[in-house]
Amino acid sequence: MTSPIWHPFHQHGLGEPIPRVVRAEGAVLHLADGGTLIDGISSWWVTTHGHCHPRIAAAIAEQAGRLDQLIFAGYTHEPAEEVARGLIDLAPRAAGRDPLTHVFYSDSGSTAVEVALKMALGYWHNLALDGLAPPRHRILVLEHGYHGDTIGTMSVGERGVYNQAWSPLLFDVGTIPFPAPGREQRTLDSLEAACAAPEKPAAFIVEPLILGAGGMLIYPAHVLRDMAAICARHDVLFIVDEVMTGWGRTGTLFACEQAGVVPDIMAVAKGITGGAIPLAATLATARIFDAHKSTDRARLFYHSSSYTANAIACAAAAANLAIWREEDVPGRIANLSDGIAARLARLADRPAFAHARQLGAIAAIDLNAPDAGYLSDLAPRLRAFFLERGLLLRPLGNTIYLMPPYCLDTDQLDQVFAVLADAGERFGVRS
Ligand code: PLP
Repeated sequence: MTSPIWHPFHQHGLGEPIPRVVRAEGAVLHLADGGTLIDGISSWWVTTHGHCHPRIAAAIAEQAGRLDQLIFAGYTHEPAEEVARGLIDLAPRAAGRDPLTHVFYSDSGSTAVEVALKMALGYWHNLALDGLAPPRHRILVLEHGYHGDTIGTMSVGERGVYNQAWSPLLFDVGTIPFPAPGREQRTLDSLEAACAAPEKPAAFIVEPLILGAGGMLIYPAHVLRDMAAICARHDVLFIVDEVMTGWGRTGTLFACEQAGVVPDIMAVAKGITGGAIPLAATLATARIFDAHKSTDRARLFYHSSSYTANAIACAAAAANLAIWREEDVPGRIANLSDGIAARLARLADRPAFAHARQLGAIAAIDLNAPDAGYLSDLAPRLRAFFLERGLLLRPLGNTIYLMPPYCLDTDQLDQVFAVLADAGERFGVRS
């Protein structure tokens, strides 16, 4: 029977299998045909604590019977208040930097970033209305970035075949080169020049420490710190997209902590609910909020969606925050990271692989393969191979990466790396 479903990021014409999953627990997905898969990428980087965490499942069930959904324009509920207070408590802070003090809810990483961009432009717009500064519209971005698939978030992301169809709709940005090893100063010089240009930028948006969908590219904390300092010096708003990196992925709760950076605006999503249900948040400093707080209706922040701060999603997020408060999640991440590091080093010794890299519980390695470009059939062939071997992975071209749930145990980790080694034998060539 054919399905009417049009899947995201799936080329239906290739005839790739679409496994049907009936149940999940921890790091394991149970398939309708009785098979199982180890979820090596936390179902698109979201299920941080593993699938169907009992505390999160219970919080969802309890909230669903109490208050499900509430219009959030001028109404509030306790789960949203609790999570907002928790986010502000946990947000990065540093001496001499304005703290993040306000939380705007939305439903996905893309919307959290859209909101961040709208806040930045809204800030400069409202200052201009008061005659305090000329309006600013230009956004600076980091090369190879990915921030989502809406028109706005594609505009601030890398351009390529994946957004070519919509290129007439994407707005112009200033692109700062990626700080590749040995080229860090070029990045900083380029940012300095862009910030000092006559057309002053409104904001600079970055993925902190690691660019995800752009290829799992890691850059040093001191570069992030210097980028933030340049923005502060030029009064360009610094937006950090912690959608992928947040919730412990890089070893700290938020990646920008490792650089001692406090952004003006920060987007979080994915693991905010432990990955059980959609929710996102954009955190901002008081100056961004205050620029929109007025008796003048023209200055309010015009953004909303029907499900903003859905009460069930907020209850799941509250349970996630409780897990972070009460359980040794950092210890779990450290164990997993150590386990990955030892195995990744052995894999990197194999001639089929190159450029092993790791940041916390994110690991990536490049397969030496002929015809490994974005549109080659390598990634689908690898996906099929992994599926056959009981592993859910989604390579980016020839880059195979892991982003597993923190509950992945040693046996499962061994299984994952055994399959990776076999993939090297099957598809790799000697470098
Ligand atoms: N920003 C980053 C850094 C991401 O990695 C992603 C998704 O992978 C997004 C934004 C978009 O998030 P979502 O898919 O929830 O819209």
